[in-house]
Amino acid sequence: MKILATDLDRTLLPNGHWECDSEAISMFNELTAKQNVLVVYVTGRNLDLTEKAINEFGVRFPDVLCGDVGTSIRKYRHGAWEFDQGWISHVKHASPRWSASAIREAVAGVEGIREQESEHLNQFKQSYYVDHEKNVQILKEIDELVKGRFDEVIIYSFDSQDGKGLLDFLPASATKQTALEYVAEEFGAAKEDVVFCGDSGNDIFPLTAGFRGVLVRNADEQLVENVKRAMNENADLKVYFAKGGFRGLNGYYTSGVIEGAYHYQIFDGAS
Ligand SMILES: [Mg+2]
Repeated sequence: MKILATDLDRTLLPNGHWECDSEAISMFNELTAKQNVLVVYVTGRNLDLTEKAINEFGVRFPDVLCGDVGTSIRKYRHGAWEFDQGWISHVKHASPRWSASAIREAVAGVEGIREQESEHLNQFKQSYYVDHEKNVQILKEIDELVKGRFDEVIIYSFDSQDGKGLLDFLPASATKQTALEYVAEEFGAAKEDVVFCGDSGNDIFPLTAGFRGVLVRNADEQLVENVKRAMNENADLKVYFAKGGFRGLNGYYTSGVIEGAYHYQIFDGAS
């Protein structure tokens, strides 16, 4: 079983300021339908926002959705979503000290952060908007209050589209990386048969976890740097940087996903 896993925003979805190939999404849909490949979306989006993206951009439904930055997993079967309760039990077991409400209390007095709307929160995802100008000071204060106390990971990212700093507290066992590892294991795919495509911040974890990585051409400079550093430290890491010029595609967004999938022979060349 081969798995093609991809981030959504500005990786599969052309919602950044780079130009996109108009035919790339229909190519992606056709190629993945024809080939024996499991399609997994690994995204910060919740279910509602994922369905919105599917409708807005015309990308196909995935076979599996690792949503809410990996804190939820759903299969899409026979036209309906099936929530993976096993993932919830697994995370609770693996991160016993995790408590969203305890983290909420711990950071309640921190200036410059604002809790995100309820649809962006769940039992494994406690998230905030951050005053990006002051992020260094804020993150330092938060580390002192939270770090290492709740089996958590603290992920900060900057949304270049709307200038917002975003802060996620997640159980260490429920991230984009661990969710994809869980799916790969369930479907019996070896790590080298899993391709993960990304463009920014929190994609660093699955890109450096031993899967076959792909950076779309529009990937953040900082992510490119971090991935290159990780590759220098670990010669076994395989990450492909989409550059465009493949089958007339430009390498941005969906085109970079297709280019990367061919690079790792996820799609065979004949089709
Ligand atoms: Mg993205």
